[in-house]
Amino acid sequence: MSKIRVLKFGGTSVGAPERMRQVARLISRDDHPKIVVLSALSGTTNCLVSIGESWKALKPTEVEQQIETLYDHYLNFINELLSKERTAGKTVIDEHFDQIRKLTAVSFNRSSNRELLAQGELMSTKLFTLYLREIEKDAQLIPALEVVSTDENGEPDIDLISARIKRKIGDSSNKSLFITQGYICRNHLGEIDNLKRGGSDYTASLLGAAVNAKAVEIWTDIDGMHNNDPRIVPDTYPLKELSFDEAAELAYFGAKILHPNTIWPAKKYNIPVKLLNTMAPQARGTVISSVSTPGSIKAVAAKDGIIAIKIKSSRMLLAYGFMRRIFEIFEQFKVPIDMITTSEVAVSLTIDDDENLDAVVDALKRYGEVAIDKNMTIVCIVGDLISEEIGLIKKVLRSIGDQPVRMISYGGSRNNISILIPTKSKKEVLLSLNRGLFAPEEIPAQNSQHN
Ligand code: ADP
Ligand code: ASP
Ligand code: MG
Repeated sequence: MSKIRVLKFGGTSVGAPERMRQVARLISRDDHPKIVVLSALSGTTNCLVSIGESWKALKPTEVEQQIETLYDHYLNFINELLSKERTAGKTVIDEHFDQIRKLTAVSFNRSSNRELLAQGELMSTKLFTLYLREIEKDAQLIPALEVVSTDENGEPDIDLISARIKRKIGDSSNKSLFITQGYICRNHLGEIDNLKRGGSDYTASLLGAAVNAKAVEIWTDIDGMHNNDPRIVPDTYPLKELSFDEAAELAYFGAKILHPNTIWPAKKYNIPVKLLNTMAPQARGTVISSVSTPGSIKAVAAKDGIIAIKIKSSRMLLAYGFMRRIFEIFEQFKVPIDMITTSEVAVSLTIDDDENLDAVVDALKRYGEVAIDKNMTIVCIVGDLISEEIGLIKKVLRSIGDQPVRMISYGGSRNNISILIPTKSKKEVLLSLNRGLFAPEEIPAQNSQHN
């Protein structure tokens, strides 16, 4: 058997019957072995999240209305997608919607809510497999819940996943096409859980690492990683290549096209990741690999929901052990830190999770005055930055112009300059950076004369 490929299709790629047919055509272009990872139909997970919120808020009428609207959507979907297999399709959705109604009929609990969230991927993969059967394309459905699991820290174990997926593939050695669910997994208690929103990309790279795939292909609704956020900035363009480190920075700092954890398994096992467009399969897309093309700034991304924390202490900052004490507090409350800057009397850092914010702030107050800024955004400028070192910061700051900047971080890695700004300035900053970094001829002459 030649080396297997892992192909992941996101929500919009399977979100309409015609799209699902297109996915079937795409995976039938050759007979090479493939694992196909599917998301839920677009809008489904959002809807399940919303049902969960109404359920938690004790609003049964809202729960019921949302379930019935979603059910109608699926009914129309199978009626349009399937003909010979329509009855089987109806059985699939009836089973899952019965489960959804059953789960939400009793009082809310987090574990049942996670089971609720899993229904989207469970249905999309079953419906797709039925469609493949209808067009007489041989495929084997592999339940992700029997393969992908996480430990007590929420971390997947690739060796374990590898042993399981290889056994499943070995059990169907006459097949070359395998379908499985993205996003869903089992946690250390054996309960149904998930890899967080957008997690199907992560499933694909975990499976790619687990089978030592030839490549992991992330098929979506855009032709690769763009140089800036296409939802905000007009005239962005796709990048041909990125290194694993560059792509990881962009994914972590807000490029929604990739779940933030997608890159590490691929990097660890050196498996190229390709970002491709289901709607334009002939487009070149982006190849992410260990190869780093030197030179310049490649892209900008932005991550919202950031909180800046400043700890000011004239007495202790320079004392040995101060930083350790500060970091220990974040460790104790399991709060990851994104950015750090220091001065002689103060340290500023950022977090993106406010769940334990009050407890962290209380503990920090033992060491000095604490100030909080909410509604902040990290803008991350990514590339192979060493080769452009001279004048780089100037170029970035000149592009940002008069926009307020709360923190800057440079030198932590050769791939990243991060700046912290108020979220309300995000659009302006991204537009200014786009003009200044990617279209230098547009910068006014008086600003560029000292280059
Ligand atoms: P899928 O449902 O296939 O997982 P997503 O919506 O999660 O798709 O990701 C694709 C979207 O990511 C694009 O439609 C685009 O709007 C958004 N996006 C944000 N930043 C970038 C970027 N730098 N390059 C490409 N797409 C981006
Ligand atoms: N369906 C999940 C979500 O919408 C996972 C994914 O699409 O990657 O978050
Ligand atoms: Mg996604």
